[in-house]
Amino acid sequence: MAEIYDLHCHSTASDGALSPTELIKRAHEQGVTSLALTDHDTTAGLAEARATAAASGIKLISGIELSTSWHDKCFHIVGLGIDPDYGPLAQATQNLQTVRLERAEKIAQKLEKKRIPGAFEAVKRAAGDSMITRTHFADFLLSQHHVSTQQEAFDRYLARGKPAYVSTPWAELEQAINWITESGGIAVLAHPLRYKLTANWMKRLLTAFKEAGGQGIEVVTSRISADEIKLVAGYAARFELAGSAGSDFHNPENQWVELGRLALLPPHIKPVWELLEVQG
Ligand code: AMP
Ligand code: MN
Ligand code: MN
Ligand code: MN
Repeated sequence: MAEIYDLHCHSTASDGALSPTELIKRAHEQGVTSLALTDHDTTAGLAEARATAAASGIKLISGIELSTSWHDKCFHIVGLGIDPDYGPLAQATQNLQTVRLERAEKIAQKLEKKRIPGAFEAVKRAAGDSMITRTHFADFLLSQHHVSTQQEAFDRYLARGKPAYVSTPWAELEQAINWITESGGIAVLAHPLRYKLTANWMKRLLTAFKEAGGQGIEVVTSRISADEIKLVAGYAARFELAGSAGSDFHNPENQWVELGRLALLPPHIKPVWELLEVQG
């Protein structure tokens, strides 16, 4: 049977709609054989995912998607095969929960200035013990009929440059890569085309990423064209990075993104799962 890898997705531990158990069940239904759960800045969903994965025969890779800063911009680094109990990583996720809570308070204050009260209480309630993300704010704005789609919530309020945007002190890119690699994991640059970098900045980013110990890049993501895969595969080859494949699944209501529904990695790219297998 063919192996189907999906090395990037979210559960209710961050901004996903499905619990780790529901996510594993859906991955199984979609024929995924190896899944990495990569919640934003938290590993809290991994224990539940591991228990369910064992029962359904899915190979679970312990993952995380760390928010990082580099040159004043936010970049997402996926860690694969991490040890969630590694002290500095566990400490970092704990700090990030506070950073996110404080950011949420500031976002809510900005919304209040736009005559939208009650956001902080609402997102705190919705997130519970999980990481509060801008997705929670988007859902709140949607529920209060201030916007009619999640996308509109970002476009009108939450995206950089919009009235409720709050710049956040994420970890430095190099620091985040260190936490991942020192915990035994592989650092992968997530969705490289989403940052809208010029070719020159992309090369600078990949140089810094590689120097800091980054080993992989997401070559295959959801909704990527054949030309885009070629472009990212070119970066992977040039910077000697392994290629990853991840859907970034959040919510079954998004009809464009499904667990495991991904193009194949180009044959000349070294699959990141080969590094994971060596790692054991
Ligand atoms: P945060 O990490 O709290 O800043 O939230 C970022 C999350 O918001 C991302 O992981 C996406 O799930 C979501 N997001 C960011 N930009 C958009 C957008 N333009 N439309 C919809 N969702 C978005
Ligand atoms: Mn997200
Ligand atoms: Mn991301
Ligand atoms: Mn993601």
